[in-house]
Amino acid sequence: MKPAPFRYVAAQSVEEAVSLLAEHGDEARVLAGGQSLVPLMNMRLARPAVLVDINPVEALAYVQANNGHLAIGAMTRDAALERASAAVAHSNLLIEAARCVGHPAIRNRSTVGGSIAHADPAAELSAVMLALDAQFVLQSKAGSRTVAAADFFQGYLQTSMAEGELLTAIQLPQLAPNSGSAFVEYARREGDYALAGVAAVVTLAANGSIADARLALCSVGPTALRVSSAEVALRGQQPGAEAWASAAAAVKAAVTEAPSDIHGSASYRRHLAGVLTERALALAASRLK
Ligand SMILES: Cc1cc2nc3c(=O)[nH]c(=O)nc-3n(C[C@H](O)[C@H](O)[C@H](O)COP(=O)(O)OP(=O)(O)OC[C@H]3O[C@@H](n4cnc5c(N)ncnc54)[C@H](O)[C@@H]3O)c2cc1C
Repeated sequence: MKPAPFRYVAAQSVEEAVSLLAEHGDEARVLAGGQSLVPLMNMRLARPAVLVDINPVEALAYVQANNGHLAIGAMTRDAALERASAAVAHSNLLIEAARCVGHPAIRNRSTVGGSIAHADPAAELSAVMLALDAQFVLQSKAGSRTVAAADFFQGYLQTSMAEGELLTAIQLPQLAPNSGSAFVEYARREGDYALAGVAAVVTLAANGSIADARLALCSVGPTALRVSSAEVALRGQQPGAEAWASAAAAVKAAVTEAPSDIHGSASYRRHLAGVLTERALALAASRLK
């Protein structure tokens, strides 16, 4: 299928992009990797009158360790993220999740910012951003503001980005010392969207008990889901099968809006969420550093 007619503008800078977004309001859409937007346009599920292409804005493609946090430019390709030494040094979680996005051909085009802005609840990176307490930098003609991942994902393909705003950067705090992290998912075929995925971070106290844990899931609800009840259940426990099982039970209780479709029923996804939680926590704890 072919998209409805649209005007195409290639922005050469962030300033030009936000000016174009301000000028065209809700008729404009940003084009990043195009891996979600273009299929939606071809199916005529999206009909922007103006496409603002930010691919020429090279200043938005970077992965850098900066003053105690990792900064990722919105136009960083998923393939670049998975290979970036600063991302590798930051956490296993980030790299493992990036490698789960589609196939290499997809990841060569799709961008970290595009994944976040699109807010597909099945996207691995949305769950990762919740688990890593990410902050998103949004730029508009009026200025810039920073929104926490916890406040960003509002519903299915819905975010707290306002009209005219461009996501420019993602900031991830460094993990605390003595932390380990992991991302595990289950998909019917490699490269498919997952039926469920779990991002986990475990931090141990000096006495060996769990000081902190973070858990976020994809594909089990209308948005990526952070499960604070499971995190609370883990604090103070000794790491091990018993602790992981208690977290898995809390996760299953929190998964109340899992989708049912031809790929898997809601109850199967809830079951997977529990199994994958145990695996992700065990893997994260095995990587403490
Ligand atoms: C075959 C296939 C398999 C896939 N498998 C997976 C998978 O397993 N996991 C997964 O997470 N994704 C998967 N995807 C989706 C793909 O990786 C997404 O396209 C990607 O996450 C969105 O990024 P993009 O750069 O392509 O964004 P685009 O498609 O260009 O844009 C997506 C949306 O975000 C908006 N947008 C983009 N960038 C910005 C910005 N900087 N500021 C404001 N708004 C912006 C656009 O206007 C649009 O509404 C798959 C896609 C395909 C085609």
